[in-house]
Amino acid sequence: MTLPGPAIKGFSSRPSGFLFSDPNTSLILVTLRSVLPDAARTAESALQKVTRDAMRKGMPVNGPERPFWKVKTLEEMTAEEWEALCDGCGVCCLEKFEDVETGEVEVTAIACEYLDTTSSRCLVYGDRTRVAHDCIRLTPERVRDLVWLPETCAYRLIDEGKDLFWWHPLVSGDPETVHEAGISVRGRVTPGPLVPPENG
Ligand code: SF4
Repeated sequence: MTLPGPAIKGFSSRPSGFLFSDPNTSLILVTLRSVLPDAARTAESALQKVTRDAMRKGMPVNGPERPFWKVKTLEEMTAEEWEALCDGCGVCCLEKFEDVETGEVEVTAIACEYLDTTSSRCLVYGDRTRVAHDCIRLTPERVRDLVWLPETCAYRLIDEGKDLFWWHPLVSGDPETVHEAGISVRGRVTPGPLVPPENG
């Protein structure tokens, strides 16, 4: 619940454990504790007192901004956040074959014909479901159903309550890291159009 009144930046709304909910504050205190334990204790009790006083006065005590993917479910994300969550790996844009009898899906090393294999980006992204008739637009429900989404897929990770990897552009701040880490299909797959497998 958010209380009315001016916000105090830098503190969590949780009265207990708030010091450790923010990684930066926690890191500073852990470091301080190892070199100046008395100073660390003083800092902790001062922070707790300020927070308790603020809450007694009915003031909201907001924690440092946490990135949206750490606090929101897939359903809660805005359209912009949803788009930003894609790491651009391009793995979901590889052609797949489904065994009609077993339902097993094999992901090939052949890209969708609209995937730019030198950048691992879709060439018709805004229009993809109209242009490529078998393209599936991801939704939170489909993230749960599509077993062929890679384990590294950001949508899958967040839905499973996991964190993003260091190489995700939202974490690294660099769209190149997904390629540098060897996660993306860039330069590793055959461009489409789909070549049907030979019979027998
Ligand atoms: S597999 Fe997931 S993260 Fe990778 S391109 Fe597809 S939707 Fe984006």
